[in-house]
Amino acid sequence: MLSDLTRYFRVLDQGAPRWARQEADRFLLLDRAPYLGGKPTGEVLDESAPLLAPAEPSKIVAVGRNYRAHAKELGNEVPAEPLLFLKPPTAIVGPGAPVLLPPQSQRVEHEAELAVVIGQTLRRASPEDALAGVFGYTCANDVTARDLQRKDVQFTRGKGFDTFCPLGPALVAGVDPSALSIRCWVGDELRQDGNTREMVFPVAALLSYMSHVMTLLPGDVVLTGTPAGVGPLPAGQVCTIEIEHVGRLQSPLALS
Ligand code: ZN
Repeated sequence: MLSDLTRYFRVLDQGAPRWARQEADRFLLLDRAPYLGGKPTGEVLDESAPLLAPAEPSKIVAVGRNYRAHAKELGNEVPAEPLLFLKPPTAIVGPGAPVLLPPQSQRVEHEAELAVVIGQTLRRASPEDALAGVFGYTCANDVTARDLQRKDVQFTRGKGFDTFCPLGPALVAGVDPSALSIRCWVGDELRQDGNTREMVFPVAALLSYMSHVMTLLPGDVVLTGTPAGVGPLPAGQVCTIEIEHVGRLQSPLALS
């Protein structure tokens, strides 16, 4: 399985965002996003180019309480159907970019999540067709101002601040999402240690369910929920999310 993985990166190349595909130890620049059919241009990337988030979605569709132990730790039941919410694309930041802790919140928390990047338009798709329409996977942090989420009931403010959706580093095609370890550290402290097999609604079921509500477009990002162990993000530390075969996403934490 591992030899079938392909890694794509979005980079800032001479001031412009570009996509690249990793081939052994080289990075081949593409003419457009890989989920839009991007092909190599013949150029090879300068490896010092800074990394950007590996998706430019029209929307980020997310799901709450999709791991039993996490629902329980926040005092919630597991929902009978997926609990959907949206995060704005303006919340996205790339690997290594800071998460800015806003003054309106006293309690900003990490949520390590497997992110799906859509490859084919999905509308009223079956679970099988939905899975076939996935382009690849990356790591996400569904950063959440927990106090504002509880106060508002609606999730929009608590999950919508700028920088509250770190994504990356690579967009990885060819991954089986059904049993991947997913972990999160703040500094050296291991906070979350779960596995995607613990999802209440697995990736295929989530995408199918979402696609019966709204059309999922190529490049759209779906966040699949977080395992137990969420906790506060202190300024000055670094939050690290690691997903088996997918990658390791680091975000320094700073006051806004
Ligand atoms: Zn979440």
